[in-house]
Amino acid sequence: MTAPITLGLVGLGTIARNQHLPSLAETPALALVAIASRNAALDDLPAYHDIHEMLAAEPGLQAVSLCTPPQGRFEQAVAAIRAGRHVMLEKPPGASVSEVTALAHLAQENGVTLFATWHSREAAAVEEARRRLAEAQVRRVQITWKEDVRHWHPGQEWIWQPGGLGVFDPGINALSVLTRILPDAVHPVAATLEVPANRQSPIAAQMDMVTSSGAPVRAEFDWRQTGPQTWDILVETDGSEILLRLGGAELHVDGVQVSTSVDLEYRRLYARFAELVASGQSEVDLSPLQLVADAFLLGERRTVEAFHW
Ligand code: NAP
Repeated sequence: MTAPITLGLVGLGTIARNQHLPSLAETPALALVAIASRNAALDDLPAYHDIHEMLAAEPGLQAVSLCTPPQGRFEQAVAAIRAGRHVMLEKPPGASVSEVTALAHLAQENGVTLFATWHSREAAAVEEARRRLAEAQVRRVQITWKEDVRHWHPGQEWIWQPGGLGVFDPGINALSVLTRILPDAVHPVAATLEVPANRQSPIAAQMDMVTSSGAPVRAEFDWRQTGPQTWDILVETDGSEILLRLGGAELHVDGVQVSTSVDLEYRRLYARFAELVASGQSEVDLSPLQLVADAFLLGERRTVEAFHW
């Protein structure tokens, strides 16, 4: 058996604790050996203030997983790649499209793996939806992604700042699934961004897109939904109606639930990262981030009620 790839995790926040730590513990191909976080540490691992300290102090470290907010991740990734370490990026992979393109080139030049992850693509029913849509003629798509920002992002100021994406922080998950399951490419034709009077990023957004064969794709994102939360993608085709619910965990075909499964999203991401490192490859698909960037380019901005936690 080959030795596990040694990995350092950067940014010990919500997603690192909820998903990355338990998933790494179940991935024998990777060994978590260090943490870099300014305000957090784990009892049983070396802890560093930031990635620069970690890279300097851990010459044997082979890979890093960046779980920090998108703003600032570019500099962290550059430091790791220049130090010859493989890099896994949380979604969205960066604060702009071009910075991630630059990272992909840098990774190639330095002979390391860059993996831009899209965890929602690993949701249980996504591949089955993709398989069912592969030969279908898509007639219409409706994305409804509505959740309560106070519940899911309590106190996170970075989501409201430039580069934080606002409601597209969860919304990009829907777009990552959309771009995985549809047989055709999509592009936005119009968007509306509802921005709280005291914030920089939208609390709600609507996007109208079309597929390359002309089918309309409507997306509605809203962070003001209390009560039941909605993460649905409905695809009407010339045959069946495909409905992905709960962010891709459940598949309904013509109104009948056909699958549900346990959440293995981050376990699959880490298994894939280990495979990419072992085979000397990178995986960087920017299409979901490109769609969000286009929404900001095309978007009509409307100022809405100020947001307070
Ligand atoms: P978070 O709770 O704010 O954690 C991020 C951590 O990064 C912080 O605890 C902080 O740790 C560190 N950090 C470094 N620079 C920072 C800065 N300038 N501002 C704030 N924190 C900074 O965020 P998160 O929810 O884990 O999200 C991190 C990434 O994961 C985002 O890209 C997000 O889209 C993605 N993600 C989140 C979820 C979710 O449900 N929360 C789900 C999937 C993916 P120190 O202060 O100790 O340095």
